[in-house]
Amino acid sequence: MKVFDAHCDALLKLWRDSTLTFDDSDHLQVSYPALKAAGAKVQCFAVYVPEDVVGDGRFQAAIEMIDIFYEKIVKPYPDIKLIQTREDIQLLGEEEIGVMLTLEGCGPIANDLSRLRTLIQLGVRSIGLTWNFANDLADGVLEKRQAGLSNLGKEAVTLLNEEKIWTDVSHLTEASFWDVMELTEHVIASHSNAKKLCNHPRNLNDRQIRVLIEKDAVMGITFVPYFLNNRSPVRITEILKHIDYVASLGGVYNIGFGSDFDGISETVIGLDSYFGYDRLLNELLKHFSEEYVKGFCFDNFNKRINF
Ligand SMILES: [Zn+2]
Repeated sequence: MKVFDAHCDALLKLWRDSTLTFDDSDHLQVSYPALKAAGAKVQCFAVYVPEDVVGDGRFQAAIEMIDIFYEKIVKPYPDIKLIQTREDIQLLGEEEIGVMLTLEGCGPIANDLSRLRTLIQLGVRSIGLTWNFANDLADGVLEKRQAGLSNLGKEAVTLLNEEKIWTDVSHLTEASFWDVMELTEHVIASHSNAKKLCNHPRNLNDRQIRVLIEKDAVMGITFVPYFLNNRSPVRITEILKHIDYVASLGGVYNIGFGSDFDGISETVIGLDSYFGYDRLLNELLKHFSEEYVKGFCFDNFNKRINF
């Protein structure tokens, strides 16, 4: 079974510790050995600049992470291929794995859309407007003000439409979410679950999930334990409950995965790294048809690529 995973934070770990290599499955939840072992087909790598990096250092850090992506993930492995277009995925050989850059939060571009265009030129194909807090484009989900998009944020979405790049609504306030919905032509939620099952501000309510389905978007179910269930321990079956729930709203073809591996220290039992995808796939095949499982794991995200 091929897997398309829309979100991981391995670049942050590689950036924080320059001695780490992409082979190091002791320290990385998404590593080369794990991707090979568990049937990865396309893995997205988020550029996420932590909040404690300030000023122009933020854009600098984003560039350093993109450099790490090319130097430590793409270059050393002949069977890892850069994904910039849907053709790049179609061209992947049986044994090859595609890797794609995404941006989690536009803080690093400050108020300068030329920086956003530059990141797209460097290969970024999905843009989350915010992380949890506000920036020049929008408010993130934990920002007290709970505002929507600024004029610049709206310009950014228009730019992403023109480039056919995904606008990622995970992490946005509800006001920002609805502002994006009015404008976007290529939208995803890379890593968010259903609020009805787990009442966390990072999750999406039924109205939000329904409009994503209407817009033919995909929602990456995420393995963050506290976005799956407020009680612990959290088991793989909790992931299936979120899938069932989104399917019950009419979204069976709008479900994908965005693990958030390397962005989490707590994990679902049996799913503590990418190696665990095998266990998830087994569980999925017990409960859903092969066609549906292929959709969740790969086809649903893959089909929505217009770049
Ligand atoms: Zn995130």
